[in-house]
Amino acid sequence: MEPHGRNRRNAKIGRRLFALATVAVALNGCGPAARSGATGTAAAPAAPSTAAPPVATVPAKPPTAAPPAAERPLPDSPAPDRVPVPPAAEPTVPPVTERPPSPAATGLPGAPAKDRIVADFTGKAPGTWGLFVPGTATKLTGGGRRIALTFDCCGGPGGNGVDQELIDMLQRTRTRATFFLNFRWIQANPGAAKSLAENPLFEVGNHGTKHIPLSVSGRSAYGIQGTASPSEVYEEIMVNQAALHRLTGKPVRYFRPGTAYLDEASAAIVRQLGMVPVSFSVNGDGGATYPAPAVVGEVAAAKAGDIIIAHANHPGCGTAAGVAQALTALKADGLKPGRLNLK
Ligand SMILES: [Zn+2]
Repeated sequence: MEPHGRNRRNAKIGRRLFALATVAVALNGCGPAARSGATGTAAAPAAPSTAAPPVATVPAKPPTAAPPAAERPLPDSPAPDRVPVPPAAEPTVPPVTERPPSPAATGLPGAPAKDRIVADFTGKAPGTWGLFVPGTATKLTGGGRRIALTFDCCGGPGGNGVDQELIDMLQRTRTRATFFLNFRWIQANPGAAKSLAENPLFEVGNHGTKHIPLSVSGRSAYGIQGTASPSEVYEEIMVNQAALHRLTGKPVRYFRPGTAYLDEASAAIVRQLGMVPVSFSVNGDGGATYPAPAVVGEVAAAKAGDIIIAHANHPGCGTAAGVAQALTALKADGLKPGRLNLK
């Protein structure tokens, strides 16, 4: 552990406990239940973990404590461990009728075809499962004062919003950022997707087709069934990759699965297709459930090299105001929030 690491970690834990308390008392429109108009389920969002964030690009082992709810478990449903009644039947995985594209249609002409991926990975052990598996980028490399701002647009029922206040704030402050777009969100918001793709400040990443965990063996996260084979992994990545290529005309280099969960074999598939699987080290908005003060607490605590995850698909929540305030503080400290720019 680096010098003063324990103090820094204790300070981080303190901030997170404060953030949790703030969430508990200030859940007045940002929470999943409040947003959906559901009644009788006014549960607080999932507790931010008190586990230390990963300290290396590829941690040797995944955290053993409960991970932070970086991604909303089920759109407009409370976290599974706080649900007093079973959530409604999973509505978030519509059938995708597009055929799996050829690599050439995805802007990754050098990528292996689906048959090659299936042949290479069928029968391979899944390896570690989680948010921070080996082979996944959790921090920036190369030193310097950079911090990555990443915003997921998850799509699906309850997740197809556009946080224009956030986008306008980034534009106004000339702040670069990376947006991870899901296939469903692109279908629902073609104009907003095109606008993000064409904005020179912004960079676009792939946030999956059905927004499901990326697994070669059918693992689940938050009760959401993941992909169950190398073939399904390929489709979850590449159907949306083709949509992103149509949108941007450029190769898209980054992939973050829906829920951010994946296994090592799936991370290797992402790499083999020519992309970098991207996790995070700072959970900026708790799956778009934190009110602004909690977002400020998390994002403003970011250090050089951190990758911040937050969301751009839940307008009216605390993300835009919280990120705006935190960016002012980070920039005043000489930090440089911006796009991923991973090697
Ligand atoms: Zn998402």
